[in-house]
Amino acid sequence: MTLLVQKFGGTSVGSLERIEAVADRVAQSHRAGHSIVVVVSAMSGETNRLVELALGIQDPPGSRELDVVLSTGEQVTVGLLCLALGKRGVPARSFTGPQIPIVTDSAFNKARIVEIGTEAVGAALEAGQVSVVAGFQGVDPDGNITTLGRGGSDTTAVAMAVAMKADECQIYTDVDGVYTTDPRIEPRAAKLARLTFEEMLELASLGAKVLQIRAVEFASKYNVPIRVLSSFEDGTGTLIAPEEDASVEQPMISGIAFNRDEAKLTVLGVPDRPGIAYRILGGIADAGIEVDMIVQNVSHDLGTTDFTFTVHRGDFRLAVASLEPVASELGSGRVLGDDRIAKISLVGVGMRSHAGIASRMFQALAAEGINIQMISTSEIKISVVVDEKYLELGVRALHSAFELEENAVEC
Ligand code: ADP
Ligand code: ASP
Ligand code: MG
Repeated sequence: MTLLVQKFGGTSVGSLERIEAVADRVAQSHRAGHSIVVVVSAMSGETNRLVELALGIQDPPGSRELDVVLSTGEQVTVGLLCLALGKRGVPARSFTGPQIPIVTDSAFNKARIVEIGTEAVGAALEAGQVSVVAGFQGVDPDGNITTLGRGGSDTTAVAMAVAMKADECQIYTDVDGVYTTDPRIEPRAAKLARLTFEEMLELASLGAKVLQIRAVEFASKYNVPIRVLSSFEDGTGTLIAPEEDASVEQPMISGIAFNRDEAKLTVLGVPDRPGIAYRILGGIADAGIEVDMIVQNVSHDLGTTDFTFTVHRGDFRLAVASLEPVASELGSGRVLGDDRIAKISLVGVGMRSHAGIASRMFQALAAEGINIQMISTSEIKISVVVDEKYLELGVRALHSAFELEENAVEC
């Protein structure tokens, strides 16, 4: 018998009508003889509403109590879905994170799963019941409720699939698969039939929010195939699985990801000597801020260097404040900041074996008059930082330059 984990995101359970439609879909899989574990998100917009409620009392809200508030969204949908399944004669049982239990560390608002109990869900499956699990939430070793970070129900689903040794983890959402880029930005984006874990990991970490990055990390580590599907229509979706046989030629570019949540900081004219990067970034790390791209280039005439890096936009003000004293100690005295930038990235495992991709990318951006502020590359991706106002134009220009549209023939 096949064991499937089926996860339904916020839009898929966004109204009673949608919950009834999900129940029909789950009932169909159950009647086909599969064992089913369902994971659900809160109704769309609900988690944002709960964040606003907490902010209305305290800004920023205490992180433990915020998780108590946020976890309620998913508790509503598991109950409603079980009622809808019951109405269809499908035996179902709801589980909150602590009831499973999904044990996490104590990092409120961004907890990591450390262990999952399999007994309760195993017994429900044994009894022929569909298990309906609340996504996004867990419990720490002291019994506190935790949440896994925005989009965390994807991670709950994959973690349940790993724990229960499921055959496939199906992520039902409001698009019918993973596309060459976000179809909301480029309507001509093409659906991908298959992606490697490595490519999906890169796309997710570079901003493609269709899957939470930690979900892909888990799936890759434990080799659980993920299938992204539409909850609105039937189809085969996109399979995310290990890289196929090396003899199968991989597409050169599989997709374009982008991220608006970035900000750029530059320390001007710091001395070119050992220890400077450490002085600049040490303070940033001490402030708990993650750094993404880094560029440093020495000016040979003056023996000084400009040091530029990017951080999450939410950390921008804190980063400027931590950097100013360091900059003046280093004799620079000037920090330039820009929180209106965006990062666009080309991703593809086939890039390894193709030369000239970077120049083709830069040519396409130049043709649209888009200035590149920073560049970073790895074996399977090239990222550029541009002015945020060029984000959509840049994504569309690259999509067309690399002929990623539906039915386009790769050259
Ligand atoms: P859910 O609520 O089901 O978890 P999300 O909103 O988190 O859904 O993820 C689905 C959304 O991801 C889509 O509506 C789409 O706008 C966005 N998205 C971003 N990049 C991509 C991509 N490459 N392919 C498909 N969808 C993408
Ligand atoms: N409800 C949570 C959120 O909106 C988790 C999820 O939907 O995956 O982020
Ligand atoms: Mg999501």
